[in-house]
Amino acid sequence: MGRMNAAPPDFDVAIAGAGFSGLGMAIRLKQEGTRSFVVLEKAQTVGGTWRDNRYPGAACDIPSNLYSFSFAPNPNWTRLYPPQQEIQAYLEDCASCFGVREHIRFGAALARAAWDDAAHVWRIETRDGRALTARALVSGMGGLHVPNLPDLPGRESFQGESWHSARWRDDVSLAGKRVALIGTGASAVQITPRIAPIVAQLDLYQRTPSWIVPKRDGAVPGWARTLFQRLPFTQEATRRLIYAVNELRAKAFLDPPEKEWIGAKLARAYLARQIADPALREKLTPRYRMGCKRVLISDDYYPALTRANVELIASGARALTPRGVIDGEGVERPADIVIYATGFKPMDLISHVDIRGAGGRSLNEEWANGPSAYLGTMVSGYPNFFTLMGPNSGLGHNSMIYMIESQIAFVMDALRTLDARNAPALDVKAEAQRAFNAEIEAKLKKSVWGTGCTSWYLSPDGKNHTLWPDFTFKFRERTKHVRVEEFEFAQ
Ligand SMILES: Cc1cc2nc3c(=O)[nH]c(=O)nc-3n(C[C@H](O)[C@H](O)[C@H](O)COP(=O)(O)OP(=O)(O)OC[C@H]3O[C@@H](n4cnc5c(N)ncnc54)[C@H](O)[C@@H]3O)c2cc1C
Repeated sequence: MGRMNAAPPDFDVAIAGAGFSGLGMAIRLKQEGTRSFVVLEKAQTVGGTWRDNRYPGAACDIPSNLYSFSFAPNPNWTRLYPPQQEIQAYLEDCASCFGVREHIRFGAALARAAWDDAAHVWRIETRDGRALTARALVSGMGGLHVPNLPDLPGRESFQGESWHSARWRDDVSLAGKRVALIGTGASAVQITPRIAPIVAQLDLYQRTPSWIVPKRDGAVPGWARTLFQRLPFTQEATRRLIYAVNELRAKAFLDPPEKEWIGAKLARAYLARQIADPALREKLTPRYRMGCKRVLISDDYYPALTRANVELIASGARALTPRGVIDGEGVERPADIVIYATGFKPMDLISHVDIRGAGGRSLNEEWANGPSAYLGTMVSGYPNFFTLMGPNSGLGHNSMIYMIESQIAFVMDALRTLDARNAPALDVKAEAQRAFNAEIEAKLKKSVWGTGCTSWYLSPDGKNHTLWPDFTFKFRERTKHVRVEEFEFAQ
């Protein structure tokens, strides 16, 4: 790749993280077969999100045929929506079948990386003090990776067991216990129906109700799996159909109609069918535009809330005491176990890593108020550095794997462009990055995410640094080829 320096780097490419992003990147490099690469993974296994989120009921809310690599279809998914264990097994298989496992260093957490302006290499250190150099650095460290524990007074004083949904404790039995589940977002909606039949009492602390639509999950019939195995084009056709249907929904998010749209009417009707008690229904009725926060899908959440041992506390949690939780009305409710289903620090992409670009500039300092990038993938001043699932590449309506694969294609094209120009490094121009962000900011203002709700999509500066505000095929078009006029090339 590019011009050779006196001391060649240890690797052409160093990748941090072995989830969908890091593995996908590694597989593409392996398939191309011309570049050396290493994957640094801080944990002991691959999988990322799907290794960490092992809570009861954990599953993807994108159908299995779409939530997988385009180059590695799996005809053996057992359900329409893949459960966590199957996604994890799929990623383990991919790591082995594509021969990338031997490139992964497990237990190697990227601690710092600094761009060496003179040598045109990234100088990388892992937390255990080992050093390496690479021409390009790709972050696959995840966008929803760092658990977000709420700042509730007295949290540390609680004397029972407590944990975050992404750090599930299999060693603690919930049977017969009084459990407080804090949060009613995507994870809580999956956890509630699974633990409600086991626990003595489940108190569910809600801050804001979610819009929920039916999931219509089910087993994939044996004949369909046989069909996918024997005639792979049928699976490809199914995948394309699911993609297209999801993509159609984007219109309602990007350009929300003045009046309530049909999706909201259907969700309200679903709520009315499932919850007979008007008081409970009232508590579960969202008061913001559908889509402004993530729309959830579930077949069994509402029925679980009608159980005698489940109580929805719509005033939320105000504080913790040694014995339980104080709700928003000041009432202390005893609990043996507190589970935080409070999501992640969104876009906390690199706060645990020190990335230094040209001239020693710090990415953490530049991103203090919210991260921004060019095509969610490159940052001006950080040559040959790529972030997969970076700022504004998240989605509210379709599969993240589609976005990740688009970004990987962009990285591959950038590396090929360097080869073709015999250049050691490329850096996106600050002006190109500004123009790109101005364009997406304008789109976000018009979108449903700009309709005034508070959500984890928003950063402390009030801006949405999380979502891609357009159709995903437009992202794919933009990431297909490097627009050389938007870059500076080192010589
Ligand atoms: C509970 C949950 C449900 C989700 N459901 C959906 C869904 O339904 N549909 C959808 O499209 N997306 C969903 N997502 C988003 C999901 O994260 C992405 O689809 C995808 O899994 C992201 O893959 P990734 O490799 O980019 O990140 P991750 O899966 O987060 O992987 C990051 C990897 O980097 C490693 N790492 C982190 N820091 C370091 C470091 N310093 N050094 C070395 N390694 C490091 C981590 O250990 C991890 O293995 C969900 C996310 C969560 C958390």
